[in-house]
Amino acid sequence: TAQQRVALVSGANKGIGRAVAERLGALGMTVLVGARDAGRGEEAARELRAAGHDAHAITLDVTAEDTVRAAAATVEERFGRLDVLVNNAGITGSGRVSPEKATDQIPSAVPLDMVRAVFETNVFGVIALTNAMLPLLRRSPAARIVNVSSHAASLTLTSDPDGPFSALLPSAAYTPSKAVLNALTVQYANELREDGILVNAAAPGYVDTDINDHNGFLTPAEGAAVIVRLATLGPGGPTAGFFAEDGPLPW
Ligand code: NDP
Repeated sequence: TAQQRVALVSGANKGIGRAVAERLGALGMTVLVGARDAGRGEEAARELRAAGHDAHAITLDVTAEDTVRAAAATVEERFGRLDVLVNNAGITGSGRVSPEKATDQIPSAVPLDMVRAVFETNVFGVIALTNAMLPLLRRSPAARIVNVSSHAASLTLTSDPDGPFSALLPSAAYTPSKAVLNALTVQYANELREDGILVNAAAPGYVDTDINDHNGFLTPAEGAAVIVRLATLGPGGPTAGFFAEDGPLPW
């Protein structure tokens, strides 16, 4: 129906993105399951439909501008607008090694190609997808953008030698990519404030997914909670913020 809200989640074929898609579907939204592999996307969308959700796969590699453009054209044609964009797709650059255990991205030894690849997905991909979808988001009466960040993106937390995040291995790829994502969150929020589009960054916590070879201790649904909350903010909700499930995080 015209009232049904439409949400696009990048990287929604598995992990946290999939859990976000499931929860938004359960809240009655039409969910577009962004996946760079069409088969994996279809499978996830099929499973979500079997669970009773209005889910549709959409092929989307955030580093491939043709797929980003095609996805925007598809959303325009089928729905005419977009209400929620969750920039969830992300990589560590180290494969299935927890960012805090990845020794291959320490600043003094990081291969520049790794930094480029991580930024291509976690930063440039977000700009590409957001800009492609903004004309559709502007047609929503209450658009929300959520950027999936990380506690590791907090310069305040990671620069505290006595804090829990000093135990993270220094990273010149993943961690700075999420810090830049946070910076972008503020810049987009400031541009879009007068349009009523709320833009926030979410830190899901340490979640059991492929990205850390299942070392995380939260379930994907638990990690998804803060993302869903920011995707469903009412009017007057926060913008230009950075939140974990238990409250705001310092930049
Ligand atoms: P997963 O590896 O399980 O999921 C990542 C998703 O992103 C997959 O669907 C993957 O697709 C997709 N993806 C990767 N590159 C691209 C691309 N170029 N275009 C489109 N999709 C892409 O990890 P998580 O679910 O854990 O991660 C989701 C987000 O949460 C990431 O941004 C991550 O940095 C963040 N995060 C995760 C934490 C955790 O503890 N798990 C902690 C903090 C942040 P494919 O299946 O094809 O590989």
